[in-house]
Amino acid sequence: MRLGIMGGTFDPIHWGHLVTAEAARHQFKLDQVLFVPSGQPPHKQGRKVSSPEHRYLMTFLAIANNPMFHISRLEIDRPGFTYTYDTVSHLKAEYGQNIELFFITGADVMRDILTWYKAEELLSICHFVAASRPGFTLLDYMAHADLSRFKENGSIHLIEVPAMAISSTDLRRRITIGEPIRYLVPEAVENYIYKNHLYVPDDGATD
Ligand code: NAP
Repeated sequence: MRLGIMGGTFDPIHWGHLVTAEAARHQFKLDQVLFVPSGQPPHKQGRKVSSPEHRYLMTFLAIANNPMFHISRLEIDRPGFTYTYDTVSHLKAEYGQNIELFFITGADVMRDILTWYKAEELLSICHFVAASRPGFTLLDYMAHADLSRFKENGSIHLIEVPAMAISSTDLRRRITIGEPIRYLVPEAVENYIYKNHLYVPDDGATD
């Protein structure tokens, strides 16, 4: 079995994430893509992030009509900081050693991957699929000599996803200043955001 693990904060999830997951599923012939909203990301200490339950529910709504997409509470239910190595190891143990894992995330994230907890081991047990936004070349991300080594080994793959021009940061900004987000996120996610007053000043949604 080939399993995609779609890791992200998803604050909020948008069409760019969904297009990325579908592109990776197709390109790497994945049997399923498991969306894993992050719990307490170690690199976001002191930054305003919506509560895990809000991010989980928005992700749940976004993928509800795709039978190839699934969602996991693994990271949001795990106390303490969430490290991708722990998640990947857990899934490897759960699905059996024969499973081939593909961690899908943003290419920006990859710049720092060698600073992650147990990075070398992580790169040896899991493929990485890094989605880049238009305007970046693959070399922008692979300039680091050590990362080039992993690319040659076949453990890091880059895919260009034009729909990633949509960004969670821009969506939060738009909501804060009252600009529309229609057609940038699934309708159910848009409704959830407005119903729960997310991303407006003093929304009470953050941890
Ligand atoms: P981020 O810093 O919020 O995002 C960096 C960039 O990547 C943003 O442009 C973001 O776009 C994009 N991105 C994030 N997830 C994506 C996805 N699944 N598909 C396509 N683009 C994506 O990164 P993050 O979301 O917090 O972290 C990404 C993943 O890396 C998470 O699973 C996190 O737990 C993991 N991580 C692990 C460690 C560690 O183990 N030490 C450290 C850092 C990150 P949007 O803003 O539009 O989403």
